[in-house]
Amino acid sequence: MTVAVAGGTAGFGSAVISKRELVVGECLFREGDVAQEAYVIESGSIEIVSGEGVTRTRIALLGPTDIFGEMTLLGDRQRSASAFALAPTRLTVVTHEYLGDRLSEADPMLRHLLRVLIMRSRDLLGHRGGTAAPSPPVDPAGQRDLDSAMARLDLEQALAQALGTGGLELHLQPIIGLARLDVSGFEALLRWNRPGRGWMPPGEFIPVVEHSELMVPLGRWVIREACRVIAQLRRAGAPGLYVAVNLSARQFGDTALLSVVEEALEAEALPADALRLEVTESMLPDNLVAARQLLERCRERGLKVVIDDFGTGYSSLSYLHRFPVDVLKLDRSFIRDMEHEPRLATIVRGVVRLAHELGMETVGEGVETVLQLEALRSLGADHVQGYYFSRALPLAEAEAYLLKGPP
Ligand code: C2E
Ligand code: CA
Ligand code: CA
Repeated sequence: MTVAVAGGTAGFGSAVISKRELVVGECLFREGDVAQEAYVIESGSIEIVSGEGVTRTRIALLGPTDIFGEMTLLGDRQRSASAFALAPTRLTVVTHEYLGDRLSEADPMLRHLLRVLIMRSRDLLGHRGGTAAPSPPVDPAGQRDLDSAMARLDLEQALAQALGTGGLELHLQPIIGLARLDVSGFEALLRWNRPGRGWMPPGEFIPVVEHSELMVPLGRWVIREACRVIAQLRRAGAPGLYVAVNLSARQFGDTALLSVVEEALEAEALPADALRLEVTESMLPDNLVAARQLLERCRERGLKVVIDDFGTGYSSLSYLHRFPVDVLKLDRSFIRDMEHEPRLATIVRGVVRLAHELGMETVGEGVETVLQLEALRSLGADHVQGYYFSRALPLAEAEAYLLKGPP
């Protein structure tokens, strides 16, 4: 008997978890069956046997909480043994689909290791009594996991090296104040000149590094370097300039972050308002308490906090009262679609007004045309940035832009 118990709830995704009940002596599966399920015993007893008649041997006697049949989960392979109930038995069925959902989110290295381990133990069981089996051949899915695991390792190693020996640069995109049409600050955007590959945009390596410890030293490097470059630009004749750096979710776990910030400012004799921290809504939920505390402490020191990509998360408005924020940066998608969707312009006007009433500044990002610029101006935005004014520039070009001023 199979009973569906849960579907699409409690974090089980789309896969259905079901139960199975067996009577005494019932066979669950036989050696050679093609299978896609594993089982966890809730109550009762299961005997795993190989062979039949005179060659029949018991491999295992299993009871509550034991798992079995797991070797088929990673590939659509045959059962290497048979399973019988020795008592009335109740099982939870773990489907291939259920595990597949989980595994697809896992690190490819873990996926690969799991596959290798399962294949090795299958081979060991197959060769029981004989010598150890040779390494199993890798199937196409395994090969893909192995390739991406190796690519990830290579990337992390090369980036760790770049942190020590150079190859990383911050490029600076001007942020324009609409009141006087001048440069009020810059956003620091990371670029990596990877040996043999050329310049890589952050979208190609930040998402990978975010899953590793390397994000912490990388994030610290960005803060120190941002302070260094903004100090140079301030000396070039624009004393009130600020630099906004992007924080990664991982950095909320960096207990030294605040002291890194303070030391970086001090090393360049900069006031706290020279540095702004950009955080996105999507990185906040997982770090609610830690993020809030850290941001509050940064603000007490005089740093401004920017909420980036505003409007792309699920509960943008709730963050406005839950997080200490000074600047609201409207996501590029609003600015891009405003021309064609009049309702968006109404939304932007409302958000700008709300921000002002809460004492926040607003920035419109991704401004590419004069029409978008004029629209944002008429909706009351304070600042804009985007290709219409400039891309992110290397330090020397940013300095030249500063001297010349926006068009
Ligand atoms: P973001 O913080 O939303 O940065 C804005 C991105 O939009 C940048 O891409 C910028 O070059 C691009 N952009 C600016 N103006 C325009 C425009 O008018 N039109 C269009 N289509 N795009 C525009 P970039 O430099 O490739 O950075 C992508 C993302 O990588 C950033 O998104 C940010 O999330 C992340 N990132 C960049 N640098 C760092 C860093 O130092 N640390 C962390 N944690 N993340 C970073
Ligand atoms: Ca940003
Ligand atoms: Ca953004």
